Amino acid sequence: MNIVVCVKQVPATQKVDVDPVTGVLLRNGIDTKMNPFDLVAMEAAKRIADKTGAKIHALTMGPNSAIEVLKESFALGADEGWLLSDRKFAGADVLATAYSLASAIKAIGDVDLIICGKQTTDGDTAQVGPEMAEVLGIPHISWALELEEIDDKGLILRQDLTTKDAIVRIDYPCLITVEKTMYQPDLPSYRLLKASKDKKIHTLTASDIDGLDHTRIGLDGSPTQVEKIFAPSSNTETQVLEGDIDTVSDELYAILKKTKLIKEEA
Ligand SMILES: Cc1cc2nc3c(=O)[nH]c(=O)nc-3n(C[C@H](O)[C@H](O)[C@H](O)COP(=O)(O)OP(=O)(O)OC[C@H]3O[C@@H](n4cnc5c(N)ncnc54)[C@H](O)[C@@H]3O)c2cc1C
Repeated sequence: MNIVVCVKQVPATQKVDVDPVTGVLLRNGIDTKMNPFDLVAMEAAKRIADKTGAKIHALTMGPNSAIEVLKESFALGADEGWLLSDRKFAGADVLATAYSLASAIKAIGDVDLIICGKQTTDGDTAQVGPEMAEVLGIPHISWALELEEIDDKGLILRQDLTTKDAIVRIDYPCLITVEKTMYQPDLPSYRLLKASKDKKIHTLTASDIDGLDHTRIGLDGSPTQVEKIFAPSSNTETQVLEGDIDTVSDELYAILKKTKLIKEEA
């Protein structure tokens, strides 16, 4: 059995600048880390592998520096690392990202289970996992809260449906996206990291993937048009209202109405 865990390298800081012309995050030179939800995805993969003897493949799409997140995956129990990297993949929106990752998974071949984090801390759309399942034509369960049962045919999971939870069975091949609360992720193991020194990271470029539709990858293959990306301005201006209680309440009421925080009384 083969499990692919999709891991994304994200900025380790909230202070990230955006290129004012292209609207793309300026990621060069900033500290990075594994998306926290993907640490949980790795932990879930490890628990499933412990029961089924599955092999764990960590997969990331990103620049060459994303190799670091694969090394971290080795220290968390991954057996194989896959880097999907090519200038042709750059500037991908969610749809192009999902298509590219799904195509890489087809190239890895014979995959039974794909585990993604529920969302990332940078793009934050929570759509990559479900869209990958759609591209691959396999079932998925998103927002998995707990792994209730694991066997060699499939999984029983508790799924968050926002107002209710559902207990669902899903058979392989399938994809799940996991909530951060599913497990407390293990700390990276120095022993595993040391043992992984000679592990090979497989690099896949666009030309390594048979049948890849080049019109569906990278910036040109991205239907999303971002008009503007900007950091929200923070305002620390304060206004102190003074006077007796009636004056202050009238003034406050007028401000709340003006800022449309409350509706005019009927
Ligand atoms: C027009 C446009 C241009 C963009 N250009 C760029 C750009 O130039 N550079 C850039 O970095 N971003 C760019 N982005 C952002 C990029 O599209 C998203 O970061 C990407 O689609 C992943 O979406 P997400 O972070 O919302 O993932 P989510 O759906 O929130 O992630 C869910 C899970 O999917 C998996 N996953 C997501 N992304 C990856 C990945 N890359 N590798 C492995 N697993 C993954 C992880 O398991 C993750 O936990 C652009 C977005 C748009 C709309």
